[in-house]
Amino acid sequence: MLARRVLLFAVFGLIACTTSTTAPAPASPDRAATPAPQPSHWTYSGATGPEHWGELDPSFAACSHGATQSPIDLPSSAPMAAAPARPAWSPVPLRVSNKGYVIQVDDTAPSSFTFEGTRYTLAQFHVHTPAEHSIAGRAFDAELHLVHKSADGKILVIALLFVVGNENATLEPVWDAMPAQRGPAPVEVAGVAVDVSSLLPKAPRYLRYDGSLTVPPCTEGVTWLVVEPDASTPLQVSAQQIARMRAILGGDTRRPIQDRRGRAIVELVP
Ligand SMILES: [Zn+2]
Repeated sequence: MLARRVLLFAVFGLIACTTSTTAPAPASPDRAATPAPQPSHWTYSGATGPEHWGELDPSFAACSHGATQSPIDLPSSAPMAAAPARPAWSPVPLRVSNKGYVIQVDDTAPSSFTFEGTRYTLAQFHVHTPAEHSIAGRAFDAELHLVHKSADGKILVIALLFVVGNENATLEPVWDAMPAQRGPAPVEVAGVAVDVSSLLPKAPRYLRYDGSLTVPPCTEGVTWLVVEPDASTPLQVSAQQIARMRAILGGDTRRPIQDRRGRAIVELVP
């Protein structure tokens, strides 16, 4: 059976990489003859790693040739402007998917957030380990992305940076529910919600810049608001929590730092 699976994987690798691996891939002739269009398979290392993303699929061209890519190393301070009103995120009902490259919680009761005159709703959040953004060269151990979308398709991401320390009780239900295998079906846990609002400082300061998605297709035009970590009490996740996520996703889920290319960075202060 193992040899058969390896063969199937070799022949239909694209299909195998983008579907659930909870069961051996079916050998349906219909399916082999008419595979559904799938995005190219990409990874965080090796021949399909970040240095090659732009070559894997024409739709990934921005990963190689974009001018405003993310993540970047941010300065610890920058020219200041007024921060927006603090986001009022409602607790997110626990609905967890294993996308293969990330564990994602979709917000099925989306909260809204208005920034620079545009109303965004929270679509999903997910965690990268180690963190993707750095601040004045300082690396962090994990980064949570709260991905917001506007009605006309604009994307705004609020990023929170974590260091290794105590177990993060707010996020632990996500860890407890995350599917070990990649698959399209989310795990829903009735009656449990994640209070992401409790992770945000009372009066957050943000480093704001224009960037991109940090995964293929590396789409640009993304507004980034990276929350400055509290110097005395930064957000924490435990080494065990990080290890559990890495075990499921196969290691690092961090895109390397991209060239800032002179982009303006503004510090939004309350
Ligand atoms: Zn992300």
